[in-house]
Amino acid sequence: MNVLEIRELSVDYHSGGGAVHAVADVSLDLRRGEILGLAGESGSGKSTLANAVARLLRPPAAITSGSVVYHRRDGGPVDVLGLDRGALRAFRWKELAVVFQSAMNALNPVSAIGAQIDDVLRVHVPRMSRKERVERTAELLRRVGIGADRRRGYPHELSGGMRQRAAIAIALALNPEIIIMDEPTTALDVVVQREILHEIRALREEYGFAVVFITHDLSLLMEISDRIAIMYAGRVVETGSAKTLHKAPSHPYTLGLLRSFPRLHGPREELLGIPGTPPDLRSPPPGCAFHPRCRFAMDACSERRPELVPGAEGQVACLLNDDTGVRQ
Ligand code: SF4
Ligand code: MG
Repeated sequence: MNVLEIRELSVDYHSGGGAVHAVADVSLDLRRGEILGLAGESGSGKSTLANAVARLLRPPAAITSGSVVYHRRDGGPVDVLGLDRGALRAFRWKELAVVFQSAMNALNPVSAIGAQIDDVLRVHVPRMSRKERVERTAELLRRVGIGADRRRGYPHELSGGMRQRAAIAIALALNPEIIIMDEPTTALDVVVQREILHEIRALREEYGFAVVFITHDLSLLMEISDRIAIMYAGRVVETGSAKTLHKAPSHPYTLGLLRSFPRLHGPREELLGIPGTPPDLRSPPPGCAFHPRCRFAMDACSERRPELVPGAEGQVACLLNDDTGVRQ
């Protein structure tokens, strides 16, 4: 059961030097209650895709084609890109919430944490009594690991980890079906990062929401995601279960990413990384955009763009997939 279906979505940034194709023809499903990891180097289109889905794009970015359909738990499909202003406001809190990397930007610096949650509840659930709001706020803070006694704390009085937890509590306030997290823990130290990630998993078990979790750190994603989608140059190049991508990635770029980060568990491996830099998206390389950096590239790779097709498990967009698969 999908909660969100993205179809052939494209986003351009219009700059002086021509259009940057930040997201190109992306089709991706989010299943109800799953944690979907979205990985790729910076500039691969992850954040742009997430912001397009949440309708948070601002000029000069614009959706040029495609559709996003949200399936309510107890209702019909919703055309997300067609929502008007009023409907969008409700959608963004009640159905889909976003947690950004910098909690400081999401939090109001002159308002106590508890008051900010209370505000969200007051505006969006007018029938809730003051007492109910106080109870709900205390519960939310407790669930994300902030003692209810901290509800009077201001953002600057909290540690980075606590601020991020507060941002998560606010996102959870109206029980959304989807939470998009864009590098929510990147600025935190590794221990706090992992703590929060495991709590997100636990909260997911309890509330049943689906998560789109964005990071450039694939090894971190492997720990907490059910499924992973890898983006390169604005396109999805591989999808699969975290397990499969970890053990047997099919796309050379996924393989490169895996070797770019030290694993959290297991033996140390040489960090091969990926040579070169991501392409200029004003004029991406012809054929497979990864070909200038791919150690498996063949002649055909600069001529023919591989389609995202079903692979052993999940999908992959690589000409090698046709017959041989990636030799590791
Ligand atoms: Fe490498 Fe060719 Fe596959 Fe692209 S299509 S990832 S260049 S082998
Ligand atoms: Mg980003």
